[in-house]
Amino acid sequence: MKCPFCGSPDTQVVDSRVSDEGDTVRRRRRCNVCDKRFTTFETAEVRLPQVVKQNGQRSEFDREKIRVSFHRALHKRPVPTQLVDEAISRILQKALAIGEREIPSRQIGEMVMTELAKLDKVAYIRFASVYRSFSDVEDFRDVIREVSKKD
Ligand SMILES: [Zn+2]
Repeated sequence: MKCPFCGSPDTQVVDSRVSDEGDTVRRRRRCNVCDKRFTTFETAEVRLPQVVKQNGQRSEFDREKIRVSFHRALHKRPVPTQLVDEAISRILQKALAIGEREIPSRQIGEMVMTELAKLDKVAYIRFASVYRSFSDVEDFRDVIREVSKKD
């Protein structure tokens, strides 16, 4: 991308983030010649996919629902908001990267679990226990085992 100030093609991306709606990427760029900074907005050609629940019902991809899941799982856990935001952004980016019109809700749940496992083990177990609705003690042991392996 050319610098709008001096016209140099030598610019670089210094920061990149997905908008709350998940359909725009905002990039901060710096010109390597005049050192000025500017912002570009990139709109995805593919919108966030529709979410398909297990009962076949479709709904809009809801970033807020994902955020609520994180907050519930991370209740009173020492995890900085910024890390949570980054985790949610990664999920949105992955959902966009799939490039499909639909995504199974199960797949989003798995992505949330993957991110929680990296953030906080207690939160991961909390989420997994609700999400997988453990039917017996053995299921619970499996998750504990998974968490232990990640050390
Ligand atoms: Zn420049």
